[in-house]
Amino acid sequence: MIALLIAVFALLLISLVLLFISSVLWVTYLTARAVFDAAFGEVRSRMLPLRSKYKTVLNKYFDYYKKLSSSNKKSFERKVQYFIIAKTFVARNIPEVTDEMKALIAASAVQLTFGYRRVILSHFTKILVYPDDYYSTINKKYHKGEVNPAFGIIVLSWKSFVEGYINAHDSRNLGLHEMAHALRFENRIRNEDYNFFDPYLLDKWKDLSTIEREKMENGTSTFLRDYAMTDREEFFAAAVEHFFENPEKFNRERPELYHTLSGLLRQDPLQLFNI
Ligand SMILES: [Zn+2]
Repeated sequence: MIALLIAVFALLLISLVLLFISSVLWVTYLTARAVFDAAFGEVRSRMLPLRSKYKTVLNKYFDYYKKLSSSNKKSFERKVQYFIIAKTFVARNIPEVTDEMKALIAASAVQLTFGYRRVILSHFTKILVYPDDYYSTINKKYHKGEVNPAFGIIVLSWKSFVEGYINAHDSRNLGLHEMAHALRFENRIRNEDYNFFDPYLLDKWKDLSTIEREKMENGTSTFLRDYAMTDREEFFAAAVEHFFENPEKFNRERPELYHTLSGLLRQDPLQLFNI
C-alpha cells in the first residue's frame, strides 16, 4: 500500500516537474519570439517578396518599374510590399481600396524614394483614398490630394492619381506630388527616416530654387507651372513631377537644378537602367 502511495506521489511529482519545465520552455519561447520580432520583425517584413497580385499590377501599369533591371525590380518589389504592409489604406466614398490602388500608390512612393534603401515615409501611416476631388471642411475647398503631418496622413483622389500616370509627360503627377511633400516632412520629423537629405545639396537646392522662383514671379521664367511659385514646398513638389515626367527637358534647361534634385533623391531618371 505504501509502495503504491509512493509510486502515485512520484508520478504526480514527475508530472508537476514536467509541467513546470514545459511552462518555462513555452514562456521562454514566447519571450524569445517577441524579442526576435521586435528586433528583426521589420527587417523580415522588408525582405518579403511582392505578392503576385500586386506584381501583376506593376507589370501592367507602372512604366518606371518596367524599365528597371531585374535586380532593381526585386528591390522595388520588396519596398512596395513593405509599404503595403506598413500602411493602413482607408477608403473614402468608395467601397474599398483595391489591390490595384494599393500597388500603384505604394509604387508611387517607392519611385520617389527608390534612391534610399530604407526611407519609406514612415511617419505617414495612413493613406486615404477618395474617388475624385474631395471637399475639405478645413479650408472650404475641393482638393485632389494633401499631406497631413499632424496625423501622419496622405490623402489622394484616385481619379487624379491615375491621370498623373496616364499622362506620363505633362509634368503633373498627383501621386509623386503628394509623396514629395511627405518626403520633405519626413526629412524634418525625428524618426528612423530623419535627416537623410545631404545638407550641402539641400542648401544648394534652397539657393537655386529661390532664384528660380524669383524669376518665375517677375515673369522671366516659365520653368515650372505657376502653382510652384506658391511656396518652397510647392516648388519642390512641382519640380519632382517635372523631374520624373520630363527629365531630359529639365536637365537641358536647368542642369544645375536637375543635378541637385537628382543628388537629393539619389537617382537620375535619365540613367534609370543603371539605378
Ligand atoms: Zn502641393
